[in-house]
Amino acid sequence: MESGILIMNIIIMILVTDKVNGAWNYRRFGPDVWSKTYPQCAGNSQSPINIKTACTIQKNFNPFNFTPNYNEEFNFTLSNDGHTMVVTYNGPKLLLNGADLNGNYQFVNFHLHWGPNENVGSEHQVNGIKYAGESHFVYEDFETHQIAVLAFLMKSQPYLINKKYKKLYHDEYLTTNQWYKYFDASQNLVQENDSVTIELNLSLLMGNNLVDFWRYNGSLTVPPCTENVIWTVFKQPIYVFDYEFETFRDDLLFESYRGPQSLHDRQIYRSFQYENLSTIPDQNCCSNIKSKGSFLFKGNNLIYFHLFYINFIMFFI
Ligand SMILES: [Zn+2]
Repeated sequence: MESGILIMNIIIMILVTDKVNGAWNYRRFGPDVWSKTYPQCAGNSQSPINIKTACTIQKNFNPFNFTPNYNEEFNFTLSNDGHTMVVTYNGPKLLLNGADLNGNYQFVNFHLHWGPNENVGSEHQVNGIKYAGESHFVYEDFETHQIAVLAFLMKSQPYLINKKYKKLYHDEYLTTNQWYKYFDASQNLVQENDSVTIELNLSLLMGNNLVDFWRYNGSLTVPPCTENVIWTVFKQPIYVFDYEFETFRDDLLFESYRGPQSLHDRQIYRSFQYENLSTIPDQNCCSNIKSKGSFLFKGNNLIYFHLFYINFIMFFI
């Protein structure tokens, strides 16, 4: 009888602990039920999304401009906030503008999303392909409260292969090495609110290709899922080592990501001229673009038109 009461108390304690942690997580109060507490999570402009590259539209963006102090090392605070390992900063303002973002955006934090193994964990997908993780550099225009997030897909690879590539791709190595500092400092922060100060260089963390990206309007990927985020998802992934996410999976959270949300009538733009990741048009995802065009090119009508045309030609042969 006493053991029954004890088990009951433990169950109640677990439920209460989950509630105290902000009523959302990636387990019992995971992404599928967030909208019960946070209605915006069921909105029509949610993030992340699966980027179907064949359906993106090319657009010319002016370049990103970062303040010069992006290239300096500063002390950042790395802390376990119970949902992810977040990095904040209290030094001189780190600002960016350009890339068709109106206004000046100030760095707020960066953090990571990951999954239970190296083949899953990114929030955004590219043609259905998932990456081991994804980093989000969050910025805010404090005049308009518009949020802009720079997202980097993270590809993990075995340590030995990465070592072999060290001499070939010096810039990539510098980025990988900077992330190593982040992962190394994170591994002891296994309790919520644990924190540490580390020196980091934001410019190196963000890699060396900030020119090729996809752009769309979406939301925060965590509650309250507010739909005021301009997303920039960079095409070039950041390389990290396989084992680096393992500490997160084993000691922090098994997984920390939300799956792709419906695109609805949103358009995804790409900054680069040629899309070489997929040459196969996807009728389903392109339908929302073509519905604005001619009747003949709406979804299946295109196929009917082709059949009619072939029959018409054959009749006269
Ligand atoms: Zn995030």
